[in-house]
Amino acid sequence: MNFYPGPSKLFRSVEKHLQEAYQSGLLSQNHRSPAFAILLEECISKLKAKLDIPPEYEIVFTSSATECWEIIAQSFTKTESYHIFNGAFGEKWYQSTQKITKKASAFSFEIEEKLPVDSLTVSDETDLICITQNETSNGTQIRENELSALQNKFTEPLIAVDATSSMGGTYLNFNKADIWFASVQKCFGLPAGLAILAFSPKAIEQGLAINENNHYNSFVKLHENALKFQTAYTPNGLGIFLLKKQLETMESIYLTACESMDRRIQWYDFLNSLKTIKPLVQNIETCSDTVIAILPKNVNDLLKKAKEQGITLGKGYGKWKDSTIRIANFMAINEEEIEQLQKFLRDYEN
Ligand SMILES: *Cc1c(COP(=O)(O)O)cnc(C)c1O
Repeated sequence: MNFYPGPSKLFRSVEKHLQEAYQSGLLSQNHRSPAFAILLEECISKLKAKLDIPPEYEIVFTSSATECWEIIAQSFTKTESYHIFNGAFGEKWYQSTQKITKKASAFSFEIEEKLPVDSLTVSDETDLICITQNETSNGTQIRENELSALQNKFTEPLIAVDATSSMGGTYLNFNKADIWFASVQKCFGLPAGLAILAFSPKAIEQGLAINENNHYNSFVKLHENALKFQTAYTPNGLGIFLLKKQLETMESIYLTACESMDRRIQWYDFLNSLKTIKPLVQNIETCSDTVIAILPKNVNDLLKKAKEQGITLGKGYGKWKDSTIRIANFMAINEEEIEQLQKFLRDYEN
């Protein structure tokens, strides 16, 4: 049993889809062939349909969320970006951008605090505001109304959202930001090595105006190829094939989002009934539906005892590395596994 929040448990169906991918012959097709363009087009149209992404948004594939951080810094930032975060992934994005653009500023807030939109100020030079919608390091999540408030207050800069550990697991209103990305080894329950990067018409316009073209993955190259359903370099065809297949079997994101939330509510009820183990995030308005961080008395002992029972839990991350354990609430994990983990945690306390 694997509750690691990425790479995470794969969907059972991946085994069958891997075989189908091999048999289809698509994996030896040139990435500029018509067969490959059809695969790309189908995968993108299924993504838009299943995740409710507006038709006018452009979708490209990259290899990781980390690569998306670089593309955004290189191709969408003329002068400066503004990073708002409450955890380690948002901070890493800020640090990686600073190395590239030399001019990024940061604002940090607390895990029990809603996005403090009223306290934010950005300079006139700010091209881009960067937000981590689901902070995998501490199990917090920015709600849609907070993104709306941000968008209403800052109408000029683009808003870019890291949704790596929520896309495919919760409902995201893509109209509330201009750039969205996620890699597939979290909520999508697929093997790592592929990320989805989506651009609004406003982002496309800004990327084209900046016209940065010094990197193999510069936006103008990604865009030029996307118009032909091609890619700038030989892409992860297997990952794209598996994503397409998984999307075909996936239920609507509205249902998935309700299920994730129901499971999270059940998880919190359960955790609050325990004697010593408590959730890290107590505020139900900031806690994540897809990643749950818990505070045990003795992290290493709990990880070890779980391992002995064949249960892999997520180690803590960043500032919470030594004090927390993270539990993925992803759809590839079934109800029986959750019951078994909860039984283990209750027995562990007694
Ligand atoms: C996992 C994760 C990343 C890094 O993803 P890669 O695909 O390994 O680059 C970035 N941001 C968040 C929020 C994550 O959870």
